[in-house]
Amino acid sequence: MSKRFDIGKLVRENIRQLVPYASARDEFSGTASVFLDANENPFNAPLNRYPDPKQQHLKEEIARLKGLDPACLFLGNGSDEGIDLLIRVLCEPGRDHLITVDPTYGMYGVCAAVNGVERRSVQLREDFSLDPEAVIGEADSRTRIIFLCSPNNPTSNSLDRRAMLRIIDAADCVVVVDEAYVDFSGEPGLLSMVREKRNLVVLQTFSKAWGMAGVRLGMLFADPELIGYLTAVKYPYNVNALTLDQVQRSLREPAAMKGWVDRILRQRDLLAGALASLPFVRRVYPSDANFLLVRMEDPRGVYRYLTAQGIIVRDRSSVPLCEGCLRITVGTENENRLLMNALKKFA
Ligand SMILES: *Cc1c(COP(=O)(O)O)cnc(C)c1O
Repeated sequence: MSKRFDIGKLVRENIRQLVPYASARDEFSGTASVFLDANENPFNAPLNRYPDPKQQHLKEEIARLKGLDPACLFLGNGSDEGIDLLIRVLCEPGRDHLITVDPTYGMYGVCAAVNGVERRSVQLREDFSLDPEAVIGEADSRTRIIFLCSPNNPTSNSLDRRAMLRIIDAADCVVVVDEAYVDFSGEPGLLSMVREKRNLVVLQTFSKAWGMAGVRLGMLFADPELIGYLTAVKYPYNVNALTLDQVQRSLREPAAMKGWVDRILRQRDLLAGALASLPFVRRVYPSDANFLLVRMEDPRGVYRYLTAQGIIVRDRSSVPLCEGCLRITVGTENENRLLMNALKKFA
């Protein structure tokens, strides 16, 4: 299926016809010493200059790190920009729809709703595993995107690789695999398949393992043709100069990221064990991410109690399949100790 996959056929007519805005920085990209083309203020360098709309240097560095061609990479203001642009490029409001596999990350549904695009929901199985045939069965000729999230938020498990590939191979639409938490996982993820599977889109982010949620940079890996449409639709300067600069500097120290991930994983295992020993905890789900989904008696009572102690976790107890669950991010050793001390007193 993927081999004869035609992305152009999935793209909205108005987007296919779009003549993108050409900024001053687009029209001239050589070297020069006097820039009088963009109505910038000549003072306050370097912040006075518009950033590179193509983010060329940063894309090359990230592409090298990930072992992919820079033409397969789109950079956005968080993964959220990529999610929104995919919907705007591929889904005709009122006609096309997308599919989410729930419970999952809320932004897919919010972006669909904002764009007036129907969302169809397929449930994960009771054990949070992916049922590929149920997803394929829900898709039809008006399905434009299937969103998968692996490791999944809030259930914390990785989805089965073969089940994801079964969907990618069977689908006549784009399949997004959101890998925001892949650096915490024992699974390799699907990034290496982007070249081969033309309908596969992989999302990654600097917000989690890289410790830069405040910087706002998301990565979207896909077929260059689809990247071209996303690039035509984005705001010209969607990634600002401070972000480009900070991420470029952080990329030079990948060891820092690896060190954080190691410490978080060690803390995750300790915290999981400690939580499981509390009398009111029914189940700590196995996690492939930097958070734990914990089923307990009286989750709302626990949530209110922790909040009163100044400790904030996420109440997921009203989410279907997550009844009774709180989602707890793994913190520092000290933060986790404060959490456990509070929970022992609650018990
Ligand atoms: C945290 C998270 C992201 C990250 O979003 P950004 O906009 O890049 O900060 C993406 N997907 C999922 C499932 C997440 O939980």
